[in-house]
Amino acid sequence: MLAYTYVEKGKFALREKAIPRLQDPQDALVRVTLASICTSDLHILHGSVPRAVPGVTVGHEMVGVVEAVGPQVTAVRPGDRVAVNVETFCGRCFFCEHGYVNNCTDPNGGWALGCRIDGGQAAFVRVPYANQGLTRIPEGVSDRKALLVGDVLATGFWAARIGEIHPGDTVLILGAGPTGLCTLLCALLHAPGRVIVCEKDPQRRAFVRAFAPQALAVGPEEVVEAVRANSAHGGADAVFEVAGSPESFRLAWLCARPNAVVTIVALYDAPQVLPLPDMYGKNLTFKTGGVDGCDCGEILRRIAAGELDTEPLLTHTYPLTRIEEAYALFAARRDGVIKVAVDCQA
Ligand SMILES: [Zn+2]
Ligand SMILES: [Zn+2]
Repeated sequence: MLAYTYVEKGKFALREKAIPRLQDPQDALVRVTLASICTSDLHILHGSVPRAVPGVTVGHEMVGVVEAVGPQVTAVRPGDRVAVNVETFCGRCFFCEHGYVNNCTDPNGGWALGCRIDGGQAAFVRVPYANQGLTRIPEGVSDRKALLVGDVLATGFWAARIGEIHPGDTVLILGAGPTGLCTLLCALLHAPGRVIVCEKDPQRRAFVRAFAPQALAVGPEEVVEAVRANSAHGGADAVFEVAGSPESFRLAWLCARPNAVVTIVALYDAPQVLPLPDMYGKNLTFKTGGVDGCDCGEILRRIAAGELDTEPLLTHTYPLTRIEEAYALFAARRDGVIKVAVDCQA
């Protein structure tokens, strides 16, 4: 089968590999129907993910059909359509039992697929701990609607859940990339009064206006004023930082009202500074970290109920044989791309 492979820093290539085999009683083999490209894949390409193993098949966002399962897999059966979770977690350690699956202490836990073990930009993928790592896609939910469930949509859902949004709140989201847009969709599930999205790219602001007309899309130079004009208590009640730059980090605490919750979703490539004297008396709560991707069942139910729809984010589709072009488009943010779907059986 063809597998898109991390060869070395700066180089991915389509390689011929053997179809993976089950290695553990809790493994499942999934025939990948659709995969997507994530910014984290670009981080691997650029050599900024030290844990990534050269030779590994990349891709950690995918849906498919279960082909085979180990004897201890009970959650899915061959023939089931499934969403694959970006995180591998044992389901039994202290952190898993508390829902903090991102901190699973199992040696194989965490972001393994498409980083430390072969991922899903290939025709088949072996998924460890399949009882936790796979979620059945409900009937009536297409592969395209389910494609982002295991990674970016899980991240947006988790962020909105821990961000403590109350009905009627003013919510500020910094960044309208794929994860920012998923955070926006999931924030809307919490009945905010006003959602403001700050994004520097005018094309992406236009996308926000079409995708979620109830949100107010503004540029960084107007966001402070827009938040002031649209909040009852001098700032946003809940802030989500999904852009990941020093400027967006500054805007996150600056635009928050006193006693607000600031949820840091973004991954920075450098330390950020909290200027505590400037913030004194604001009494902010910061929440930080990586997604606890354990809500995939609920997310799929919400999709089936028509409450969440990320299909408009799939702006482009390529066959696996042309995945290199898909990466070039995604990396350059050309042609209004938000997310690329890769047909792994083509
Ligand atoms: Zn990702
Ligand atoms: Zn665990």
